[in-house]
Parts: sequence; C-alpha cells; structure tokens
Amino acid sequence: MPIYTPPLRDMQFVLHEVFKVTDEFKAMPAHAEVDADTINAVLEEAGKFAAGVAFPLNISGDTEGCKLDTATHEVTPPKGFKEAYRQYVEGGWPALSCDPEYGGQGLPHTVNQCLYEMLNSANQAWTMYPGLSHGAYEALLAHGTDEQKKTYLPKLVSGEWTGTMCLTEPHCGTDLGMLRTKAEPQGDGTYKLTGNKIFISAGEHDFTENIVHLVLARLPDAPKGSKGISLFVVPKFKVNADGSLGERNPIFCTGLEHKMGIHGNATAQIAIDGATGTLVGEPNKGLAAMFVMMNAARLGVGNQSLGLTEVAFQNALAYAKDRIQMRSLSGTKAKDKEADPIIVHPDVRKMLLTAKAYAEGARALQVFCTLLLDKAHGHPDEKVRKDSDELVALLTPIVKAFVTDNGHVATNACMQVFGGHGFIKEWGMEQFVRDNRINMIYEGTNTIQSLDLLGRKVLGNNGATLKKFGKLVGQLVAEEGVNEKMAEFINPIAYLGDQMTKFTTEIGFRGFQNPDEVGAAAVDYLRVAGHLVFGYLFARMAQVALREIAAGNTDPFYVAKLQTARFYFAKLFPETATLMRTARAGSKVLMDTDAALA
Ligand SMILES: Cc1cc2nc3c(=O)[nH]c(=O)nc-3n(C[C@H](O)[C@H](O)[C@H](O)COP(=O)(O)OP(=O)(O)OC[C@H]3O[C@@H](n4cnc5c(N)ncnc54)[C@H](O)[C@@H]3O)c2cc1C
Repeated sequence: MPIYTPPLRDMQFVLHEVFKVTDEFKAMPAHAEVDADTINAVLEEAGKFAAGVAFPLNISGDTEGCKLDTATHEVTPPKGFKEAYRQYVEGGWPALSCDPEYGGQGLPHTVNQCLYEMLNSANQAWTMYPGLSHGAYEALLAHGTDEQKKTYLPKLVSGEWTGTMCLTEPHCGTDLGMLRTKAEPQGDGTYKLTGNKIFISAGEHDFTENIVHLVLARLPDAPKGSKGISLFVVPKFKVNADGSLGERNPIFCTGLEHKMGIHGNATAQIAIDGATGTLVGEPNKGLAAMFVMMNAARLGVGNQSLGLTEVAFQNALAYAKDRIQMRSLSGTKAKDKEADPIIVHPDVRKMLLTAKAYAEGARALQVFCTLLLDKAHGHPDEKVRKDSDELVALLTPIVKAFVTDNGHVATNACMQVFGGHGFIKEWGMEQFVRDNRINMIYEGTNTIQSLDLLGRKVLGNNGATLKKFGKLVGQLVAEEGVNEKMAEFINPIAYLGDQMTKFTTEIGFRGFQNPDEVGAAAVDYLRVAGHLVFGYLFARMAQVALREIAAGNTDPFYVAKLQTARFYFAKLFPETATLMRTARAGSKVLMDTDAALA
C-alpha cells in the first residue's frame, strides 16, 4: 500500500523562510492578523484530513469508479467518498479562503493552495469535487449579480452545494467559439437552456442536495464565434425565493466517461433539456467571466500534478531504500545484505531527485503565484495589485503546463524506480501516472497554454510582463552576483535571463513573418520559460539555505535543499539549451511534411 506524509516542513520553509508570507500579509488589511502559528496549525490539521481521510480512499476509488443509474440520472461515487466529503464540510475546509461576507474564513489563497496540494497528493479524483466548487465560487463572486451571490455563494462556501464548469461539447473543446448550447430569454429575467455538454468533472454525485452548474451557451442573437458566448448559472434543483429547493431542473447526467485515470471523479455527459438558468455577467461576455474560473482551475491543475509528484516521490524513495538488487558500481554498500538497496545506483538517484526537484520547484512556484493572487486581490496599493495580477497572468500557463509536464516525467520516473512492481496495481504507482495524464490535457491542453504564454502573454504585450519577471531575476543576480557560494545557482539564471530576451525577439520576428513559427516554437518556449522561473526559485531557496548554514543552523533540511538545487541546475535546467535549439529549428520541418503525413 502506498504511503503519504504531508510535506509540512517544506511548506513552512517556502511560506515562512523564502517568501515570508506573514510579512506580506501584514500589508493586506484582510490578512494582516494571519500569523505563522495559525497557518502552521491549519496546515497540520489539513494534512491530517488529507492523509487520514482522503488518502485511504485513493486506490479503492480508482478500482470502484462511479456508477450511473440511467433511470434516475443519479450518480454514486465510490464508497467512502460521500462520507469523506461530509467530514470535509464539517471541518469547514470549503470555506477556508472564502469571503467572510458569505460565510468564509477569509484566510489567504496561499494557505488554501497548500491545503489543496495535500488533498491532491492524497486523492486527486476526490479533490476535484470540492475543487470545482471553489472555481464556481470564484466566478460567481467576480461576476454574479447580488441576487446570484446571495443565493449561491453561502451554499458553495459552506460546501452544502457543489459547483461545476460546463464548457465542452462533443464537437468543441479547445475551440469554444463553436459551441451550440442555446439560451432563450423567457421574459422574466430567466433563460431556457438546451444543449449537450460532455466531460463535465464532478458533473453529478450524491454528496450534496444541489449542484450549481456554470454553463456556457449562446443567446439567440449572439454573434458567431467566441464573441457570442454567455455564461449562465443553472442549478440542478431550482432555488425558491426563500432559499429552499424547488423543482428539478432538466439538466441531467446521461452518461459517465470510462477513462484512463481519476476514476473516482464523475466525468459526466450532461443533457440540458430546457433547463432554467440566469445570466452571469454581461451577454456575450461569458468567456471573459468564465476565465475567472478557468484561471483558478489552471493553477489548480498545476497543483494536482504537484500533489501527485510529491506522493509518487515519497513512495519511490521509501521503495528505493528497501528494495535490494545488484551491488553498487563503486563497491558493496550493504555488507550484511545479499545485495545493495537500489538507492545506491546513480540512475535510481537521478529518478528520485528529478521527482524531488520537480515537487519542490512546483511548491515554491505555487506559493509564489498564490501570494501574487492575494496581493492582486487585497493589497492596498493599486500598482502592487496591477503588477501582481500581470505576473500571475504570465505565470498561469507555466504553472498549468510546465508543472503538469514535469508531473508526467516525475510520476513515470517514480514508477520506473519500482521496476516491474511499478506496473502492478497494488503498489499504487501506475495510478499516479494515469491520474496525472489528464492534467496535461484538460483546462486547455498544454499546447494551448504554450500558445497563450508566447502569443498573448509575451509577444502580445511586446514582452512587457516578461521583462517584469526578468527584473526580479536581475535583482537576485545583483544581490548575489558577487557571492561565490551562490555562483552555481546565480550564473545559470543570469545567463538564461540574458538569452531569453534575444530568443523571444527572434521567435517574435519570425512569427511576424509567418504565424506558424509561433506555433512551432511555443511548447519549447514554455519549457524554457518554466526553467527560468524554477531556476529563479531554486536560487532563492538556495540563498536561504546557505544563509542558515552560514549562521550555524545544523538542520539537515538545508543541506538537502542545497543538494536538490545543485541537482536541478546540473541535470534538469540544462535542457533549456536543447529546447532553444529545437524552437529555433522553426516551422518548415513541420509544415513542409505533407508527404510524410500523407
Ligand atoms: C477527464 C476529463 C475531465 C474534463 N473536465 C471538464 C470540465 O469539468 N468541464 C469542461 O467544460 N471540460 C472538461 N474537460 C474537457 C477538456 O477541457 C477538453 O478535453 C480539452 O480542453 C481539450 O479539448 P478536446 O478534447 O475537444 O480536444 P481538441 O480541442 O479537439 O484538441 C485536440 C488536439 O488538437 C490540439 N489543438 C487544438 N487547437 C489547436 C491549436 N490552435 N494549436 C495547436 N494545437 C491545437 C490540442 O492541443 C489537442 O492536442 C474534461 C476532459 C476530460 C478528459
């Protein structure tokens, strides 16, 4: 059976020692009172829930999956899921970072993100039920009318109801401009919706008495394409004026997808058969409104892969210390045993350290991003809010694609550490690989994320936001450039930072002449940018570790951090050279290939 220990020490390191989050919170009126003890206590309890309640249901949930009763359209998730959700609600966890005006506890997003990392390590499929609800909460909070907020937010915050995100239709996933679901005004402020949605996560279940679907649809006079999409809130049960539940809305689960992973989550086909909904935000501006939910979900998906990378690493590490096989190339290490533990072999260590570095880099990135989100929402200085918002927008596709691609590499590497046993279900490793695979696909495939980064977020504003990030790198380089001990961490990012400007200009220039050049370079570009961000974060973590060691701190945690950072810069970061070369190889070798792809 797999193991999982919440990585509280590393979380505390990132939160308190690297980012000094409580100092940052002091500047935000809503969070000024949040101290380190409170954060640590909350995360300790969250870890207990994740490891003790959600984790034991991970394998059974995967084996059992969800069941649909086609007569009633009701879905039963795996055994224990409903009870775990009840405990989650009783613990007040859905409300953790929500607005106190709607019953929330008002803690920073940064803390909520750490809760979610642990839930994702424990059980990604289960976590998606509350996860989608949180996204629905964010979208309604940002764009709902007062009436909609009053009706739905307190129930989503308490966890009494859950939410979904209904975008995808059979003929359109990436290209939502093609969606066909219709919304007819009824003359009383409501709309009648008709259409078919597929792949709706947590689309139906028995955890709660109501489900709040956020549905993209077209008004009768809507312009074609993505400029003609509106957002609607469509509850499973209509809600009466006094807040009680009314009649069943005809929005039904008609099928469940049979899929590669996350079996415990109900991926629903949804038929909308004249269901009543109300408009969220302005007509034809639905995609912009839905983007609040999609951006939150994109950070959330990166967090899913962080969770899986961490839990896969923990299991592979324990196995590598225990499993004996062959002798070390440099001489016997375990004389009392028939063979040495496999952790003595260089390549096994490389696989373990790859996962460890990708987990620790992703954790630092997630905290960095959610702290920026907290500032973007709650900092009193408008310039700080604006800069933070822009940086989060730049980093969001990197979190979504770089962290999930790394999760793929890491979970596979950890499975490989187990040899043939990794391929066998009972060890749990193949489930981590399978569960992670969807993270590279949904919420906009990783290719789409790379186009978003390079096309919109970088070239779209002439690299202005990228330069802002470059400034942070520049500051660190200036601060530590003369510190010999930091040279191994600073030199690579200083060099890549310089290269990045030239690289971006070159791709931008080529893209100007031929847009396919952007499409051909984007995926490689995102990975290079991802490494620049990870490199910056590892350098900051190394800086803290070196200072602690210099001050006489003998906690082996800091030595471990330095060793991981060294490994990262020596073995993972250098792929940037290859990636820049392949990006520069251009589009011709892809586009002039009609004979090869005939
Ligand atoms: C388990 C699961 C859960 C999901 N949950 C939800 C949910 O809760 N709500 C929801 O609305 N949807 C959900 N989805 C849908 C998911 O977001 C889509 O599957 C995804 O966005 C891709 O759309 P698609 O499957 O139609 O692929 P397509 O859009 O058909 O894409 C196919 C391929 O073409 C590539 N491609 C498309 N356009 C371009 C382009 N311009 N440039 C380069 N490459 C391109 C894509 O990257 C991809 O590789 C879920 C899907 C799954 C499998």
